[in-house]
Amino acid sequence: MTLHVVGAGLAGLSCALTAVDAGLDVVLHESAGQAGGRCRSWLEPSIGEVIDNGTHMVVGGNRALFAYLRRIGATDRLVAAPAAFPMIDLADGTSWTATPLRLLPSLLASTWRMKGDRDTTIAQCLGGSRNYRRFWEPIALAVMNTPAEEAPACVFRRVLARTLWRGQAASRPYVVRRSLSDTFVVPALAALATAGATVRLGQPLRRLAMADGRATELAFDDQTVHLGRHDGVVLALPWTVAAGLLPGLPDLPASPIVNAHFRLAVPPSKLSSGGFVGLLGGTAQWLFVRDHVVSVTVSAAGALAERSIDELRHLLWADVSKALQIHDLPFASRIIKEKRATIFHSPAVEALRPRAHAGENLFLAGDWTATGLPCTLEGAIHSGVVATRAARAALRIR
Ligand SMILES: Cc1cc2nc3c(=O)[nH]c(=O)nc-3n(C[C@H](O)[C@H](O)[C@H](O)COP(=O)(O)OP(=O)(O)OC[C@H]3O[C@@H](n4cnc5c(N)ncnc54)[C@H](O)[C@@H]3O)c2cc1C
Repeated sequence: MTLHVVGAGLAGLSCALTAVDAGLDVVLHESAGQAGGRCRSWLEPSIGEVIDNGTHMVVGGNRALFAYLRRIGATDRLVAAPAAFPMIDLADGTSWTATPLRLLPSLLASTWRMKGDRDTTIAQCLGGSRNYRRFWEPIALAVMNTPAEEAPACVFRRVLARTLWRGQAASRPYVVRRSLSDTFVVPALAALATAGATVRLGQPLRRLAMADGRATELAFDDQTVHLGRHDGVVLALPWTVAAGLLPGLPDLPASPIVNAHFRLAVPPSKLSSGGFVGLLGGTAQWLFVRDHVVSVTVSAAGALAERSIDELRHLLWADVSKALQIHDLPFASRIIKEKRATIFHSPAVEALRPRAHAGENLFLAGDWTATGLPCTLEGAIHSGVVATRAARAALRIR
């Protein structure tokens, strides 16, 4: 029995690893020349450093993610920050630190209020709470990549139940020590090779043939795979690509993220490497430092992503220089617009996210599937585990 996993983002890597560990023969097919998908890094010539497509933050309560890192031996490739969220309001210069302990009363009240139905948005539940503008709204925006006025409260509540609710260790933020690929991708590929999986890079799936609810053929440029009676397929693809290959999948709206990386002549003095700060009252939302590089993230950046690279550079640098009190211009910069960073999470979209089982021997994985979680690394990795579980259950029956 062979499981063909198509797409080597975090969902596909997690699915492939779980499957080889369960004793299946695994072939992982990826269209790009590198694995990682929306979680990837490269040596950026303009900056002279390895940069990520966007800074990713995870928290201690991301159980599937930490299990994945333990499996690939990469837990030490993350750097932990204290369970505290430093914030600066650029409009009036005030700064404060939000800690789970201090937020506990507001957290209890907030999660209680979010017990509403599936149509309730985060803003409807939390809009009146004391720490809404200074903490809940920016955190919800970062987690959901969707404005709090539109994002479903039930999904955010599930995130809180797994993280802030569980105390200091589960609330602790982590960023990668060197790069996303170094942490999440390179060790996963090594673990797959050791376990005997085949990984095919640079091989886009062009066509998926179905007959009577079964996947029968996978057409790549270099070969057509004819699926045997006991073979299965997991599509761990971006939702737009999956929908193009498999009729009937929903057309889910996208939400962009804009990232800027600024290479400074000397590391900033206000924030050490691995440090971060949340920003209000400007365009930039979160600022991260890795050695000489200051990176800025703007979530739910629909309108912003339409602006020119030069405009974005000026707007975002103005916020960085204000927050870190740096007056010299950056040595180099790189702006990245990820137009399809995640799906746009509204209550209506939530109801459309498909489950893992899509055909007799066909399964779906990806952060956009019905994980109950927002589109995050945790959701993607969890979806890969769920898809393998569904495949094993379905394929073993016959
Ligand atoms: C800028 C940015 C910032 C983010 N910040 C955070 C964060 O702070 N914390 C967090 O937890 N999450 C964050 N995320 C979300 C996280 O990156 C995603 O949820 C996760 O990477 C999605 O993984 P995936 O495997 O589901 O999808 P993808 O990464 O999209 O993987 C799909 C794979 O399929 C491949 N593929 C496409 N077409 C084909 C084809 N025809 N044949 C074969 N392969 C194909 C793609 O190349 C890709 O490798 C961020 C995302 C972005 C873009």
